[in-house]
Amino acid sequence: MTDAIVIGAGPAGTAAAIGLARAGAKVLLLERTRETGDALCGGFLSWQSLARLDALGIDRAALGGQAVRSVRLIAGSRRSETMLPQAAMGVSRRRLDSVLQAVAVAAGADMQRGVHATGADDGAVLTRDGARLMASSLFLAAGKHGFRGQSRDPARWQQRDPVMGLRLRLPQHSALDRLIGDAVELHLFDRGYVGLVRQEDGSANLCLATHKSRLDEAGGDPAHLLHALGAAHPMLGERLAFADWSRPIDAIGHVPYGWRTADTAPGLFRLGDQAGVIPSLAGEGMGLALASGDAAVGAWRAGGADAAPGFQRALAARMARPFTIASAVWRTGENPHTAGVLTSLAASFPSLVRWASRATRIGDA
Ligand SMILES: Cc1cc2nc3c(=O)[nH]c(=O)nc-3n(C[C@H](O)[C@H](O)[C@H](O)COP(=O)(O)OP(=O)(O)OC[C@H]3O[C@@H](n4cnc5c(N)ncnc54)[C@H](O)[C@@H]3O)c2cc1C
Repeated sequence: MTDAIVIGAGPAGTAAAIGLARAGAKVLLLERTRETGDALCGGFLSWQSLARLDALGIDRAALGGQAVRSVRLIAGSRRSETMLPQAAMGVSRRRLDSVLQAVAVAAGADMQRGVHATGADDGAVLTRDGARLMASSLFLAAGKHGFRGQSRDPARWQQRDPVMGLRLRLPQHSALDRLIGDAVELHLFDRGYVGLVRQEDGSANLCLATHKSRLDEAGGDPAHLLHALGAAHPMLGERLAFADWSRPIDAIGHVPYGWRTADTAPGLFRLGDQAGVIPSLAGEGMGLALASGDAAVGAWRAGGADAAPGFQRALAARMARPFTIASAVWRTGENPHTAGVLTSLAASFPSLVRWASRATRIGDA
């Protein structure tokens, strides 16, 4: 008999599967993809996320990512650069997820690929091919998209104009290396931002989050939008000059930034983006995913399936402050009237940036 079924083998699901398997549980880890792809993500692993990986016994050096030591804010011609409280890392999701999945399997989790869960209720997971898999505890870690029966209303400021994500990889180039260096860059523009960081293979991951209206203004074409942004924002344009436009631009729609829940069904632990979606500008989505997996294992060890509601309430409480601050920073940064002030303030008061980078982390339980 399976003790626990985990749905989704991203950072949240694998962190839970590793902890459960090490605690002696018989764990089934279901993943709908047959191969580990490179999920659309900024690829910024905060110092706190790195510490959570350390706690899982994952060797930072094995990730091979690029060290990130500072955060650079750019709004029009204004810019600021602040040292992060501790070193972070730029790493692709293909690399991170592959390492986490391998550790979960080594810990004893039975990982089954190509299994698409369609429902999770009353100790049963339904799959697209008609199977009904039973376990007393279910861990839902299927990412930011809705899962049947689990509502997720975006915050009011996105309801009329939803937020979406785009991603383009810029090939390695020594001049681009010099421009970005060991910083994570946040280029602020009207209704969104571009995040840029170098990753383990030397390429730069360019990730953009913006409202759909911005893409509509570019005729619905992501490449047109990026060209338009590059033309209007010279420092971004300088970096985009290294783009290989024949590469695909990945897109994801309807990201419900700021949504979080304290509710769950009996025996169901909701993890990562299934518990809450922190605005990505904070670079803490993976931190939340890892922290939620770890906390769920702790709660499950203490109280089994019955611990799910208490776990969910406690996780929601831990998310409250970082989510409020991350949403406020996003709202200030996406408004052209306040983005410049934010950047000038950041340049004059680096302690403010360090405070915000700390305050947007998910604290320990
Ligand atoms: C534009 C953008 C930029 C971001 N940048 C950063 C950043 O720089 N740093 C950071 O820390 N966070 C960032 N994030 C957030 C981060 O990507 C997420 O918070 C994180 O991936 C959540 O992890 P997760 O394990 O909950 O979900 P996911 O990483 O989405 O993993 C879910 C897994 O479940 C699988 N799955 C989905 N549905 C099913 C199903 N029905 N059955 C079986 N398997 C299923 C998926 O294939 C996937 O493997 C960003 C997000 C966006 C949108």
